[in-house]
Amino acid sequence: MEKHHKFSMWYVLLGVWVVLIIQNAIFSAFSIKTIPYSEFLKALNEDRVTEVAITSNIIQGRIRAPGEASEAGQPFRTIRVDPELSNLLSGHNVQFKGEIESTFLRDLFSWIFPIVLFVGIWFFLMKRMQGQQPGFMSLGKNKAKIYMEDEVGVRFEDVAGVDESKQELQEVIEFLKQPERFTRVGGKMPRGVLLVGPPGTGKTLLAKAVAGESGVPFFSMSGSEFVEMFVGLGAARVRDLFTQAKAKAPCIIFIDELDALGKARGIGGMGGHDEREQTLNQLLVEMDGFDPQVGVILLAATNRPEILDPALLRPGRFDRQVLVDRPDRRGREAILKVHLKKIQYDENLDIEKLANMTPGMVGADLANIVNEAALLAVRRDKEQAGMSEFQEAVERVVAGLEKKNRVINPKEKKIVAYHELGHAIVAMSLPGTDPVQKITVIPRGIAALGYTMQVPTEDRFLMSKTELENKIATLLGGRAAEEIVSGDISTGAHNDLSRATDIARSMVKEYGMSKVGQVFFASQRRAQFLTPIPEGPGEYSEATAEEIDQEIKEIIGAQYERALSLLSGRRDILEKSVAVLLEKETIEGDELKQLMAQVTDALSTRSEPASAA
Ligand code: ADP
Ligand code: MG
Ligand code: ZN
Repeated sequence: MEKHHKFSMWYVLLGVWVVLIIQNAIFSAFSIKTIPYSEFLKALNEDRVTEVAITSNIIQGRIRAPGEASEAGQPFRTIRVDPELSNLLSGHNVQFKGEIESTFLRDLFSWIFPIVLFVGIWFFLMKRMQGQQPGFMSLGKNKAKIYMEDEVGVRFEDVAGVDESKQELQEVIEFLKQPERFTRVGGKMPRGVLLVGPPGTGKTLLAKAVAGESGVPFFSMSGSEFVEMFVGLGAARVRDLFTQAKAKAPCIIFIDELDALGKARGIGGMGGHDEREQTLNQLLVEMDGFDPQVGVILLAATNRPEILDPALLRPGRFDRQVLVDRPDRRGREAILKVHLKKIQYDENLDIEKLANMTPGMVGADLANIVNEAALLAVRRDKEQAGMSEFQEAVERVVAGLEKKNRVINPKEKKIVAYHELGHAIVAMSLPGTDPVQKITVIPRGIAALGYTMQVPTEDRFLMSKTELENKIATLLGGRAAEEIVSGDISTGAHNDLSRATDIARSMVKEYGMSKVGQVFFASQRRAQFLTPIPEGPGEYSEATAEEIDQEIKEIIGAQYERALSLLSGRRDILEKSVAVLLEKETIEGDELKQLMAQVTDALSTRSEPASAA
């Protein structure tokens, strides 16, 4: 754009110059012989002038050479001199002529200069406008940057602490490297992979690393760039982006901050949302339209998956989601090491201790700490950053983050540890619950402070009453543990409670698993629509409603008691594993097996408290 502007500026100047030259040339080429005024007067006296045309300054006409009496004569031109002076001059035999002063420079300044100035101002304003919004010169043109492999320059080794996410993306890389291998067998690749995780965990970095590892072109664009001032522009951009990408396949299209573009239709502020809807629709059309065999893979990142339009997550679109979560202690250590490579630091630096000091922090925070420490070292005239610099850097970053509520304080961490272990131990003590895979006190995902991961071993279509009750007990285990150790409960369980209540309600209203009887009370219509209809009255009587509520409360109450008694019987295990969890932040693998063994041992020696349901 800028280059173009400069060019046209020069064209304007060149044009002006050429016009002036031509004007001059015309003057001289057709120029009629200019004679001194005195000569004109002389010819006039000799009757040799045959015709004249007079303007205020110039006299043009034809003049005969002396002696040639008959012909029309040669054209001439002379410049007038005022009559009084000319009389005087001819009286004294002076040869004289008038002359017109050159007005070239004056013209230049009175005409050209202002024009150039205006043109200059216009270009300047245009450029300014372009900075803020797409100037109309670039309507529909795409801002997607193409990063070729060596330009991306990010490799998997630059992204640390997110090994699970990397593993899931490995397949995408394999595909991009050799698309034929997959397509020959007829295998279909995912069209869209959505990276989900809190800000700063390295989603953008990971997407770049996928491009870097597979060595394909990388088209990246931020969701907000699609949302334009003018209706229809964003949609044009999307179309353009996909056309560009298809021409370069195999390649990656990366849409960062997908939520800016993919907010559920109908949510959000006024104004501009028509435009966003159009853009989103275009994206959906493009995603459906392209043949995955071509080898274009769409990656997107968001930290707010919950507000995305459900249409985006349907099969064939972003149907694969990769969680990029906050790193645990070991992950933080790995990330610190990646960033420490870039600075000079004391060899005796205790990286493990640093990792311990930074619970809850994400990759971006850790990168920030390393950078901060390097800057501090420079300020202190040191050759390398040492522990004291890092300590101060951590403090600074923590102070910044505390304002944003992103650091876990030790007291909360302890409560979370008890809570999560409560879930885990109850789950392990009850037969038929999904096996626990991982327990962590690192904030997971978007809302949860801690996380106990249970993965079902098989697909289930039928659940028995006992299994449902066990599920409820497990969900309530978190709060039960809190109550046992502190005699107090926290707000951390609200999600658990809502899920437990949902199960209990279904047991009563849909599955006929309560004293209310084998009756179906749920609203039939609910399932047919994506958005739940608020339940209206009239499906059952007031009295039944009370009875249902009573039953739900009873089921929940009974399971809570059960969780409490399970946990108080295993208090020692709880305390011991809390210490481990607080130290390691995540329990999985061997430590998990150990914990499991303790719980099952306890099971075989002690009898399970009777089911209260
Ligand atoms: P997100 O897109 O998830 O908000 P970014 O990818 O933009 O996060 O990360 C910002 C910066 O933080 C990166 O450029 C990198 O320096 C650092 N960073 C974040 N996560 C990691 C990680 N897992 N490993 C190494 N560096 C990371
Ligand atoms: Mg990002
Ligand atoms: Zn919980």
